This record gives sequence, C-alpha cells and structure tokens, in this order.
Amino acid sequence: MKTDLQAARALLERGGRVAAFSGAGLSAESGLSTFRDPDPDALWSRFDPTELASVEGFEANPERVIEWYNWRRSRHAEVRPNAAHRALAAQPRLIQITQNVDSLLEQAGVEPERVFHLHGSILHDRCHNPACSYRESIDMHDPPPLRACPRCGERLRPAVVWFGEALPGSTWQRAEALCRRLDCLLVIGTSATVYPAAGLIELARAHGSRVIVVDPNPGAAGSQADIFLAGAAGVIVPALLDGFDLASEP
Ligand SMILES: [Zn+2]
Repeated sequence: MKTDLQAARALLERGGRVAAFSGAGLSAESGLSTFRDPDPDALWSRFDPTELASVEGFEANPERVIEWYNWRRSRHAEVRPNAAHRALAAQPRLIQITQNVDSLLEQAGVEPERVFHLHGSILHDRCHNPACSYRESIDMHDPPPLRACPRCGERLRPAVVWFGEALPGSTWQRAEALCRRLDCLLVIGTSATVYPAAGLIELARAHGSRVIVVDPNPGAAGSQADIFLAGAAGVIVPALLDGFDLASEP
C-alpha cells in the first residue's frame, strides 16, 4: 500500500502544469506567526485583526496601525527562509501564488516575477489615496513612522491588502488564469478561509486540477484535497518535491 506521500509523488510524476499556493503556514516555521496563532509575544494579541489591518482601523488610528506593521517588519528583518521555501525555490519553473506578504520565497531564490503576491508586500509602502500611485521600498531594519505622501500629501500605508479590500487586479487575474489550466495545485500552509484567495482551490478543481494539501491541520483546505499530507511544510515539502523539475507552463 502506498503512503500518502508516495501517492502525492506519483501524482506529480504524471507531469503537466503544477503551481504552488501558499499561506501563513509556509512562513510559520521561519518564525513569522499567523493571525490565527496565539501571538507568542502577546504584545498585539489584545487587538482584533480588523483593528490593525483594515481601512477603518487605519483611518481610526493610523499611528497604531503603522506601529504594528513596523513591529512585524522588525520581526521580518530577523527571519530566514525555511526548508519549505528552499524546496520551492529549487523548482525554478514553478509559479508561486502566495497569500504571504513576506519575501521569504524571493529570499530563498525564487525569481520575483514568479511570485504572485495576492495580498501585497510588507516590504513596501504605498499612498492611501487610490488616485495616487506613489510607492516606495521600506528599510525593514529601520521602518519609518507614519508620514505623508511626498506626491499628494495623503498618508502612506503598507502596500498590503487589508480585510475588505480588493486584491491587486492584475495579479489576481494572472492567478485565476493559471488555476484554470493546471493539472495539479500544491496547497501549502493555508487554512483556505480568506476569500477570494481561497477560491483559487475551488477554481482549479472545477477546471480539472488535482489538489495536494500540505498542512499540520486538515482545516478547510484539507476537505478539498485529493491527497492530504499532514505535517509541517518544512518537513513535507522537501520530501514531496525532491528530484522533480515541476513547471507551471509547458
Ligand atoms: Zn499620494
């Protein structure tokens, strides 16, 4: 009898178009905690995520929101890619759709244009004025306080997607187009509860893709899996991908 890991590798051996779709669980082993985990530092855990990551929260208390992001940025500056990021980076023809706002896939060696950041990037600020396109890179070791846009005077904010906000249109469209033509989607470390991103799994399935889910908990994504691999991404993903040269395009 095959183990689940052997069955998953047999599925990948068939070839075809494969893509990865990751969430917070991919970066958790690097030391970046998720919204849903208890905050190990407890510093910010008394706040509801919507107070810290929504337009309403920002407009009510922009200093607090920036302070929280800068705390996350200081954490980000200290972490390094884990074995799962490195295993994904060892598949240079694979496209990485991710809900993560960190740059650990890129740090592991994935070409930036092959990472579709559905929820934006914590490494950049952008203007809060939707009519202004100002954007800048952040020094993650010394992130700046709340400040005005040099172009229009509105406040700058992290270039991430907050609760209730639309996903960046072109990135989302490219992710959807890719998921419509996949043979296999690798879902790594996401509870698949945040829509519309989580809908990509359903979209891929509806267009005939098989789904392999890697996560410590079956959760919402596990119920959509053809094969569910229970465990930490840093353990499972290297074993799953070892020896393959997977590609998202023919
Ligand atoms: Zn501006």
